[in-house]
Amino acid sequence: MTEYEAVIGLETHIQLNTTTKVFCSCKADSWYDEPNTNICPVCCGLPGVLPVLNKAVVEKATLLANAMHSEIRPISYFDRKNYFYPDLPKGYQISQFDQSIGKGGYLDLPVPANASLDKQAYIRRVGIWKMHIEEDAGKTKTAGNRRLIDFNRCGVPLVEMVTAPDLRTADEAAQYLTRLRQLLRWIGISEADMEKGHLRCDANVSIRKKGETILNSKTEIKNVNSIDAVRESILKEVERQIRETEAGNRIEAWTLEWDEDTNTLKKMRSKETEADYRYFREPDLLPIRLEDEWKHAILANFPELPLERRARFIEQYGLPEYDAEILTSERKLSDYYEATVKAYAGDPKKVSNWLMNEVLRMINDQELNPAEMSLTPAALASILKLVDAGTININTGKSLLQKVQQSGKSPEMIVADEGLGLVSDDSAIRAVCQEVLTESPNEVAAYKGGKVTLIGWFVGGVMKKMRGKADAAKAKQILEELLR
Ligand SMILES: [Zn+2]
Repeated sequence: MTEYEAVIGLETHIQLNTTTKVFCSCKADSWYDEPNTNICPVCCGLPGVLPVLNKAVVEKATLLANAMHSEIRPISYFDRKNYFYPDLPKGYQISQFDQSIGKGGYLDLPVPANASLDKQAYIRRVGIWKMHIEEDAGKTKTAGNRRLIDFNRCGVPLVEMVTAPDLRTADEAAQYLTRLRQLLRWIGISEADMEKGHLRCDANVSIRKKGETILNSKTEIKNVNSIDAVRESILKEVERQIRETEAGNRIEAWTLEWDEDTNTLKKMRSKETEADYRYFREPDLLPIRLEDEWKHAILANFPELPLERRARFIEQYGLPEYDAEILTSERKLSDYYEATVKAYAGDPKKVSNWLMNEVLRMINDQELNPAEMSLTPAALASILKLVDAGTININTGKSLLQKVQQSGKSPEMIVADEGLGLVSDDSAIRAVCQEVLTESPNEVAAYKGGKVTLIGWFVGGVMKKMRGKADAAKAKQILEELLR
């Protein structure tokens, strides 16, 4: 097994989150609609109708091309991809062939850190071979012995992206998809929900002996709609190809379908080649002219990308890689973190600890949007400052998170209203300490006899009497003094 390596390329179809379809004004997302209720003469391809390009599609595709470090063509063309299938009413799909919106590009994947390796070894660079805009086809499904067709999805805007065969393991393929999904949501062009088909993936898989550079005959795995299924189907296919090769058999260029229910691959058909589609320029649409002014407007507020931000968090805030990874998993969360650090002006790692433990749990449990929480970055920073100043203790601070979120009041106001502040008056703490010692003569004797660990027990007694509102360190100091 170990003398072989896998050579994997991924084809992804990304559904853009535009309001309307790519060439008509039907709404783009009809996931919850009844079949064939979200259609019009254009997306059904009736004779005599003409497509009109949705500007938002060009803008979102441009954002993606920029995020993938692709060259953005100033003029790109639409082409007809001709094939017959029942879910394709026009008999062709409007796509882009040789002059598509994006040319080249790459996505970097961080590979698990290995201190002995140089910087380049941390990155697996996955090249992008093709990136183009196209319209989606409809859906067919089998019901008993009938075949049903739903045209709702016809004309939904997609970007198809094909990687170079740069991935070497099933895990890397899964990581590519995870990173791509993160990126799509980060730049806000797709919901990238694989279950809803917003992000679909086919995998091209071949094997070769390690050290070889040739590309052997590959198979294509279709119909994998979760990241786990991509990982698992590739693992199975690589194993199969090694078995076949070892047995002296040739690998045929099959198209394979992943069966979710049985976790197995079955052969669908022998593969078509590109020439079968008889591409030619789409005569009903003008080329896309992406003039400089428009392009600059689209890219004017282009965000810092997740991996760049992750690296910056490590560098600028001294965060461990683990923290930086979690905090940059989503753009809103990383914005929230950074806004809190600015408002707090204290230790950035402390903010990270509070956010990753308490606040993130709250966000996940209650399905909150970090950008819309009542517990704003400023409120979180206030709570941290109250703890730092000794006005409240950590436990009170933690309980404030939920109270601020639910009431929308400021932390300071809640502390004042509910009397949550610590007793800062030394003589009040001293009186309680004295009370505890007077009530526990046996423990005091034991302490004086050398059992100094009892100090914790005395502190506990003071905290209990003061209902948690004493500064524990101060109480300990006073107790020790009194016991001397
Ligand atoms: Zn339509």
